[in-house]
Amino acid sequence: MKQHGLIIKSHGRRFIVESEGETYDCTTRGKRVDYACGDVVDILVQNREQAVIEGVQQRKSLLYRQDEWKTKLIAANVTRILFVIAAVPTPNEELLNRCLLAAEAYDIDPVILVNKVDLPETQALLDRLAPYAGLGYRIVPVSAKADIAAILPLLEGQTSVLVGQSGMGKSTLTNALLPHAQARVGDISEALDAGRHTTTNATLYHLDETSQLIDSPGLQAFGLSHLKAPDLLHYFPELRPLIGKCRFHNCIHMQEPGCAVKNAAEQGLIQPFRFDFLQRLTRELGNS
Ligand code: GDP
Ligand code: ZN
Repeated sequence: MKQHGLIIKSHGRRFIVESEGETYDCTTRGKRVDYACGDVVDILVQNREQAVIEGVQQRKSLLYRQDEWKTKLIAANVTRILFVIAAVPTPNEELLNRCLLAAEAYDIDPVILVNKVDLPETQALLDRLAPYAGLGYRIVPVSAKADIAAILPLLEGQTSVLVGQSGMGKSTLTNALLPHAQARVGDISEALDAGRHTTTNATLYHLDETSQLIDSPGLQAFGLSHLKAPDLLHYFPELRPLIGKCRFHNCIHMQEPGCAVKNAAEQGLIQPFRFDFLQRLTRELGNS
């Protein structure tokens, strides 16, 4: 019997799929493993506990990790990216920029969660992030340990993920957000965890009828190799007005004469970090 399902857990070649109120331990056809937590899939049910994934429905977004030689899918159909940053340990601004860019490329509205507001060092971080608020990004201060109320409305009706470098408080936030959802992941998937030595790549939790949270240890960083260098201006809100203004229509804003982006940077109209980031990314995509 064929039916639709939602992948709620991925472990290497095995997937836990929720479908019509049941939970199935699924394998795939042949060697196919290009499915991710959050994917809506077609399954062929074999018995009460097992099914085979036959195909995947079109995705709204797909986050993946890019290691040196391979790409690993992490989460599909995410509609909200929450970038978690804190004053301690030292935050990595490059990672924040990569996250914002990935979100823009999928038309996802990203939110910068400034965690650990109970620490006195946080004010300096909020000052440093002010330019991002100027670009239109929402900055929401929270404390995973004291008060997470500000996060709840951001999750409503969304499939959310928490992204950020290690030590920023993603696990603490996830635990604070999931006190009830945890128990809803089926027994089958718990049994699968206990019986195998594979690591879980990602888990989807239902927060309520319309809101999901995907938790994945692989979401500290993610790949951008699907982007094309000449399209990058579309993903920088402050550079969008410059699209089509360079002398050469195929300008990639590196060394070309008459480059409107370089001119704007020289006049101080663009944050230096953002211009450097654009150039670094252009080089990276050019080499891939
Ligand atoms: P992850 O690596 O991003 O999952 O970070 P963790 O959730 O493991 O948190 C890293 C450290 O930061 C732990 O020692 C947490 O107790 C601490 N931490 C998390 N949230 C807060 C917070 O709001 N305030 C303070 N002071 N510490 C926090
Ligand atoms: Zn240019």
